[in-house]
Amino acid sequence: MRVRLTYDSLRKYLLKKVTSVVYIANLMHKKLLVGVSGGKDSAVAAHLLSLLREKFNFDIELLHINLGIKGYSNDSLYSCKLLSKKLGLKLNVLDLKEEYGKGIDDLSVELKGKGVPVCSACGTIKRYLMNKFAFDHNFDFVITGHNLDDESSFLLQGIKEQQVELLLRNNVFSPARLEFKLVAKAKPLYFIPEELIKKWALMNDLPLVSAKCPHSVGNKQLINKEILELINKKLNYKVDFRNSLVKTFFEIQRIMRNDSRDDSKDHITKLNTPKLKKCRVCGFATTTDVCRFCRIMGLG
Ligand code: SF4
Ligand code: ZN
Repeated sequence: MRVRLTYDSLRKYLLKKVTSVVYIANLMHKKLLVGVSGGKDSAVAAHLLSLLREKFNFDIELLHINLGIKGYSNDSLYSCKLLSKKLGLKLNVLDLKEEYGKGIDDLSVELKGKGVPVCSACGTIKRYLMNKFAFDHNFDFVITGHNLDDESSFLLQGIKEQQVELLLRNNVFSPARLEFKLVAKAKPLYFIPEELIKKWALMNDLPLVSAKCPHSVGNKQLINKEILELINKKLNYKVDFRNSLVKTFFEIQRIMRNDSRDDSKDHITKLNTPKLKKCRVCGFATTTDVCRFCRIMGLG
């Protein structure tokens, strides 16, 4: 059922959800690096954490990665600068093309030729650079703006592709493995549906990029989100199927962790801590000889 929310009731609801992640991931007194794209999710994640900053004694900075996408990247950077000013949080900027000689537009032709979806490569690049920046500057956590719609559509994709290991690895946070230069990650909006994030961004007049990334067409996650919305509509919004999906997988993980009758406890521990080694080229975490970032950027 859809309820009418006032500013105060929405604020209370959102802060409660974010606070639950603060406790699950143990974010108190930590140095947080929030990845901001210019979009609503990361802006709202930064905003809500900034509202809890004093209560939990966070140290928060923002990181924006200029991806080199024509008609999109400049607008995104501009929105992030406005956001940083509005929230009073320091903005760090990394320019992919300046640092590595190629932006997403430059890489897209090459990627399409190899049958690699641009968004999948872009996701790897963003994750790698956020982690590297956080590691190099001693942050305790990388914070991303993934919301309930992202996480449930990711689970739906995993079911479609029968990728059980990925499904069981999905979580609100992942711990650090500093011996592999891997910083801990947390998703404060994990339990919050996209429509409420949109509402909060509007209510607070958060500066958002209006341009759309030209590479987003045909993104699998967008199709999954439409499927989930159709299911919710068919259920007359009496049940939130996104919530059901996420909670079901949490429960499966919990049962597997607590099951002492067989070796499934060891199994899930192994799934959550994949066998890592150091990339031969950059020295950061990978499961292969050379990490995916180095391969995409043609390094080494
Ligand atoms: Fe990157 Fe795809 Fe997002 Fe564009 S839509 S910024 S290519 S992940
Ligand atoms: Zn590497």
